[in-house]
Amino acid sequence: MINYKSREQVELIKESALILGKAHGEVAKHVKVGVKTNTLDSIAEEFIRDHGGTPSFKNFNGFPASLCISLNENVVHGFPSDYELKDGDIISVDCGVFFKGFHSDSAFTYPIGKVKEETMSLLKVTKESLYKGIEKAVFGGRIGDIANAIQKHIEPFGYGIVRELVGHGIGENLHESPEVPNYGKAGKGPKLNEGLVIAIEPMVNLGTKKVVQEADGWTIRTADRMPSAHYEHTVAIFKDGTEVLTTHKFIEENFKF
Ligand code: MG
Ligand code: MG
Repeated sequence: MINYKSREQVELIKESALILGKAHGEVAKHVKVGVKTNTLDSIAEEFIRDHGGTPSFKNFNGFPASLCISLNENVVHGFPSDYELKDGDIISVDCGVFFKGFHSDSAFTYPIGKVKEETMSLLKVTKESLYKGIEKAVFGGRIGDIANAIQKHIEPFGYGIVRELVGHGIGENLHESPEVPNYGKAGKGPKLNEGLVIAIEPMVNLGTKKVVQEADGWTIRTADRMPSAHYEHTVAIFKDGTEVLTTHKFIEENFKF
C-alpha cells in the first residue's frame, strides 16, 4: 500500500530535509584526507540532534550509526570506523533525518584528493542519472519511467546498475512502498500520483553489476571490488509539479572539490 502525502505532510518532510541538507553540509566541511569516517558520523549525529531531529539510520534494524559510509568498492550500508580517508578514495555518505514525524533521505559520493579519471566519470554520470530520473518523476507517469531514464543514461557507459537495491517511498517510515528501481521499462510499474514521496537513488558500479554482502551483515560491495557510486534525493510529486525536498547545496558550498 502506498501512503500518499498531503501538502502539509510534505511541508514537514521539507523541514526534515533542510536539517538533513545542512547536516550533509557540516559533514562536507570535514571530508578530506586523514579524517576518520567515524568523525564524520559524530558530526552528523550532533548536528541532527542539536536541531531537534533524530538520525533515521541509527538503530534502524540495528544499524549502529547515523551515516552509512561506503568507501570505494562498497556500494551502500557501510559503517563509519577508524579508517582514515586516503588520497584517491571515493566515499558515499548517506544520511536520513526524522523530524516532526517524517523522514528524509539523501546521499552523495565524494572524491577524496586525486581520484582516477575513470572513477571521476562514474561519479559524474551516476549523479547525472539521478537528475534524469527526477526529470521523469512527474504526475501521471509511472515508476518505470524513472527507472528507465536512469538505466538509459547509465548503460551507454558500460557501467553496472545494481539490481538488488532500489529507491523507495518515504514518509512516516524510512522505507515505504513503492520500490523505485534504477532499471526497468518506461510505462510500467506504479503510477506517479498526487502526494507520492519517493527517494530516488541510483547505485552504479564501474564494473560488474553484481554485489555481495560482507560478513558484517550490512555492507554491500561490488563482486569485482571495483568502485561504486551512489547519489540520492527525496522528491514529492504533485499535479502542479515535482519538488526535490532534499538538497546537496550545502555539500557543494562546503566541500573543496
Ligand atoms: Mg539514503
Ligand atoms: Mg534511501
